[in-house]
Amino acid sequence: MTRLPLDLPPLDAARFAAIEDRVARLLGTRQDVLVTQGEALLPLEGALRGVAGPDTTALNVITGPYGQTFGNWLRDCGATVIDLSVPFHTAVTAEQIRQAFAARPEIGLVSLVHAEAATGNTNPVAEIAEVVREHGALFHLDAVASVGAEPVLPDAWGVDLCVIGPQKALGGPAGVSAISVSERAWKRMRANPRAPRRSYLSLLDWKERWIDGGRKVLPHAPAQVEMPALEACLDWIEAEGLEAVTARHRAAAAATRAGAVALGGGLRPYVHDAAEAAPVATTLRTPAGVDASEVVRRAPAVDPAAPPAAGGGAPAQEMIRVNHYGRDASRAAVTASLVALGAALTGHGVTVDTAGALRAVEEAWAAV
Ligand SMILES: *Cc1c(COP(=O)(O)O)cnc(C)c1O
Repeated sequence: MTRLPLDLPPLDAARFAAIEDRVARLLGTRQDVLVTQGEALLPLEGALRGVAGPDTTALNVITGPYGQTFGNWLRDCGATVIDLSVPFHTAVTAEQIRQAFAARPEIGLVSLVHAEAATGNTNPVAEIAEVVREHGALFHLDAVASVGAEPVLPDAWGVDLCVIGPQKALGGPAGVSAISVSERAWKRMRANPRAPRRSYLSLLDWKERWIDGGRKVLPHAPAQVEMPALEACLDWIEAEGLEAVTARHRAAAAATRAGAVALGGGLRPYVHDAAEAAPVATTLRTPAGVDASEVVRRAPAVDPAAPPAAGGGAPAQEMIRVNHYGRDASRAAVTASLVALGAALTGHGVTVDTAGALRAVEEAWAAV
């Protein structure tokens, strides 16, 4: 029998805590994990406002549109913000982070987006984390677009605030999200008079009322529809195995990239170096004279790329994005996207090799 959402049984504290424990296992973390009752922007903003204040010097790495937003929040908190922007067709390097610390040793907080679904790049977090650890700065990581598509290891890397969302590679609901918080990040929040309290943005409220109380009583009604959806998503991920899920995303990215190159007609990967291309989504540069938004209109399987906010990215007229995450990290979805792209380009009078693209997909998929 179909049940209306409002017929759902109440979600009790024990079940809520069990979901949090499963998310913690997914991240391989022993830190506190909160499943936050809103889209991932909620813990991202809550975390940065929690730790930043006028005495903070923050290194804000911008490799896509989200970094821009985070820098604005940090400035709003009164922090001194050093923006480190790299062109969106590339990734930031550990060496650039090292140079930033050398120039400004007072940096006490680093904010980084791991993978960018919008611009299709991914950053070498393990190497960057080493530099951040050497300097003892707090490390904030947006892993929304990487979790499930590539390894996300907050404890091994020493990430103090690691935010994930189920809506990309995990194939789950967008209405809830999660964050792991280190002991020293909690300490910093407690010492920060500007940290949100008695507020929906407050992670400290949840720490004090939920975690420190032994997770017996929920502070307010949980997301009754999204939490069971997240639970179902964890069932799928655990059944398939996280490694198999990430391998599927790696294969989808490699196959999309190889397929797009084989399609030809001037279509090119937007991210130059395959090692810097995100497993979650592939961005492509359209052939000269072909408007990306027109291609997207003719190929419903392809998304318009978010207009890059900074850093010398291509205008939205030149960039398209093939999403291959969650259930779409499949050979069938990748093939369908390339066939649609091929048809759209043919419609623009561009000669493409769709059969060659499909052969390239098969080869690249088999090689992963
Ligand atoms: C998708 C995503 C988010 C979540 O934001 P939405 O735009 O609401 O989906 C946050 N950070 C990154 C890097 C993302 O890719």
